Amino acid sequence: MEKKLLKKDKLSGIVKKMAADKTLYAPVQDEDNVLFKVLGPGVEPLVAFANTKNAPKKVFFPHSELLVKYTRSPKGMVFAAMPADAKDVVLFGVRPCDARSFALLDMLFDQEKWKDPYYIEKRKKSAVISLACVQPPYASCFCTSVDGSPTSTQGADILLTDLGESYLVEFLTPRGEGLAAYFGEATPADAGAEAKKKEIAEKSAAAIQSKIPGRAIKPILDVSFEHPFWDTIAGKCLACGTCTYMCPTCHCFDISDEIKGDDGVRIRNWDSCMFPLFTKETSGHNPRTSQKQRWRQRLMHKFKYYVDNFDAIACVGCGRCVMSCPVNIDIRKIVTDISKL
Ligand code: SF4
Ligand code: SF4
Repeated sequence: MEKKLLKKDKLSGIVKKMAADKTLYAPVQDEDNVLFKVLGPGVEPLVAFANTKNAPKKVFFPHSELLVKYTRSPKGMVFAAMPADAKDVVLFGVRPCDARSFALLDMLFDQEKWKDPYYIEKRKKSAVISLACVQPPYASCFCTSVDGSPTSTQGADILLTDLGESYLVEFLTPRGEGLAAYFGEATPADAGAEAKKKEIAEKSAAAIQSKIPGRAIKPILDVSFEHPFWDTIAGKCLACGTCTYMCPTCHCFDISDEIKGDDGVRIRNWDSCMFPLFTKETSGHNPRTSQKQRWRQRLMHKFKYYVDNFDAIACVGCGRCVMSCPVNIDIRKIVTDISKL
């Protein structure tokens, strides 16, 4: 793995050059928010921010995705080939927690048994440039409790760490090395840079004050499906789905057909396990009739079922659900309470 040092004033030019050659997503100021979106001409990518309001999962798993177009003809159905995005994609400035979300989504969408070609195609054409969290985190960040850290490399192709005067540029994967030419002005990193990175990594991890017993609740969840605790958490939940839509790892979806005359399209849209309709079957039967059951599903999916299936917690500790829930339901408190059952 190659490591280089890049003078900080060179980074903006490199990102803009990449944006001219590829479709590049970056954190940008958008009124009061920092949003992760396509970097337009003349727009400055941000490097000093806690995290983007929206999760970058939308690049690989869009809110609404056209899967198939078809036409009914006397000879049968004719399916149109779906045009692929011509340009390669770069995700710049992804925080390490969000980069880890890609590794977690890969486990589901690109597993041995089931492969999602739409997701995989987009992943294959993309490189992730992650930006280590060296600035004060949000009070709601808890990445260190769910197997992550402010300098995690999981899910990233390149990791940039601000060392003060320069960035340490770590090329982590062949995809990352494929972007090395853009960093032509960088110089080889020395042992001093490594030592400084280590010191910064320890300081940044220590700055994450919010802690939850992430892995510890799995054995409790294994035997708590019918526990009365579940009656206590969902009472004030509005079933608005905000927590799931903001979450970088949530991936519920629905597939529907829209037909006009002989022409139709099949579309995949984000859905949410917090919505009553998510599990409603055509017969009218709904196996999850209460918000208690839906909240249990959300928590179990992240802290039990994903661990069962992939030995990974499906939460990266970004805190977006904590910050965005309109009635202040806090997943950290729920996990902590479960650890005391
Ligand atoms: S559950 Fe909440 S804290 Fe965990 S990854 Fe999703 S939004 Fe972030
Ligand atoms: S954001 Fe809060 S109120 Fe909305 S579904 Fe999630 S937990 Fe319920």
